[in-house]
Amino acid sequence: MPFKTFGLSDPLVQGILATGYTAPTEIQSQAIPIAVDGRDIIGCAQTGTGKTAAFVLPILNRLGHEKAGRKKGIRSLILTPTRELAVQIEQSILGYGRFLHLRTLAIYGGVSIEKQLSTLRHGIDIVVATPGRLLDHMQRGSISFKSIEVLVLDEADRMLDMGFIKDVRRIVAALPTERQTMLFSATISPEIKSLSAGMQKSPKMIQI
Ligand code: AMP
Repeated sequence: MPFKTFGLSDPLVQGILATGYTAPTEIQSQAIPIAVDGRDIIGCAQTGTGKTAAFVLPILNRLGHEKAGRKKGIRSLILTPTRELAVQIEQSILGYGRFLHLRTLAIYGGVSIEKQLSTLRHGIDIVVATPGRLLDHMQRGSISFKSIEVLVLDEADRMLDMGFIKDVRRIVAALPTERQTMLFSATISPEIKSLSAGMQKSPKMIQI
C-alpha cells in the first residue's frame, strides 16, 4: 500500500518519496489513518519500527495544508527524552517536509539558550523538545503555547524512567486542552496508562 492512500498532501508524499520510502511500515499503516483523522493515539512501538514518521507525517499533513492566511504561533509540540532523539526527529521533519514551508526548532539543554531564544522570536510552527530546557523557556516567558494543536509524547516510558514525569505534567498543564495528543512508548505499564488518562481523550491503542 503506497503512502498516497492515506490522503496525505501531494508535497508531503513527494517529500516521503524523496526520502526514499516506498511503502509504510506496520506502525505507520496502523497509526497514520487514525492520526490524520485527528484522534488521540497510544502507540506501542520500539525504536526502529518507523514510529517517528507515524507521528511526524500526520503533523506535517495537518500543518502544511494551509498556505494562505497561515496561523502564527507554535502549532505542534513533540516531547522526547534526549537531545539525540530531538535532533533525529527534527531531521526527519526537515526531510519529509522539504516541500512544505514549515519552521521547526529543536530545544534541548547543554547548548546556549540565546540562539534558541532568537529563533523562537522569528516564529516557529513545530517545536521538538526535551522537557528540562523547555521548562527553562517557559519560566523565562520566551515561549507561548496558546496555538498548540498537536502534542506528542515520544518514548514516554523512557521519560518516566529518566525522572521527567513532573516536568512533563507541568508542560502539559500549560497547553490548550483542545488538542490532539499522541503518546508513543515501547511498553504500556500502569504508569503509562495513568499518564495517558490524564492527558488523552478516548485514545486508540495501536500495538505492533
Ligand atoms: P524510527 O523507528 O522512527 O527510529 O525509524 C527507524 C528507521 O526506519 C529510520 O532510519 C527511518 O528513516 C526508517 N524508516 C521509517 N519509515 C520507513 C519506511 N516507510 N520505509 C523505509 N524506511 C523507513
